[in-house]
Amino acid sequence: MSINFLIKSAKEIQIVIEKNAPEIEKLDQEIGDGDHIFNVQRGIKLVIELEPIIKRLSMSKALNQIAMKILSGVGGSSGALFGTLFMTMAKVSNIDDGVDYKKAINMFVDGVEAVKQRGKADVGEKTMMDVLIPVANCLKQGVEKKKDLKDLMREAIKVAEKGMLSTKDLLAIKGRASFLGERSKGHIDPGARSSQLMIRTVCILILNT
Ligand code: ADP
Ligand code: MG
Repeated sequence: MSINFLIKSAKEIQIVIEKNAPEIEKLDQEIGDGDHIFNVQRGIKLVIELEPIIKRLSMSKALNQIAMKILSGVGGSSGALFGTLFMTMAKVSNIDDGVDYKKAINMFVDGVEAVKQRGKADVGEKTMMDVLIPVANCLKQGVEKKKDLKDLMREAIKVAEKGMLSTKDLLAIKGRASFLGERSKGHIDPGARSSQLMIRTVCILILNT
């Protein structure tokens, strides 16, 4: 994984999020405060704007810059949680010596664990963790079982989709949606939908390389 790949991913994610923006906005209007799409769009824009700065940096410094930008420039729970993801990925050892796919997966797995601790949410509580945790587990197991990278990407796309869809019938326990109690049921969680779309986009980019 290179810094160019990070930038390319952010640009692809921007296209996919724009296409799905009305749906994501509606989901957060139904069970949140409606700003999730705005937070995601802002985060992506800030990352893309960092291109001239981060392309000259080491991987750890680039990821740290991304984390700081997201933490300082994006509001809502998602700003803090995605900032934590990148901050933790930056801390994985030896990433400035090159990042092969196993290391990239380790970085993602560590990042998701930190997000889980930060938000104190687990699977089944109707948040983005219903996508991030199963995908991290799937990737971790894939590396342990030495699965083919492209097969693993196809599997991760399916796991992310299943996790996102699972949030529909769940009762929200964490975040703003939990204020709705039983009324949170019947709607997909906006953060689960945006995370699933981002994961799908990155997996497709890897499948096409
Ligand atoms: P806010 O809820 O502060 O307005 P956003 O609208 O940007 O923030 O993001 C909402 C999303 O954040 C939710 O759909 C959910 O997926 C995720 N979320 C909220 N609280 C948590 C938490 N404690 N842990 C993990 N994800 C969370
Ligand atoms: Mg919101």
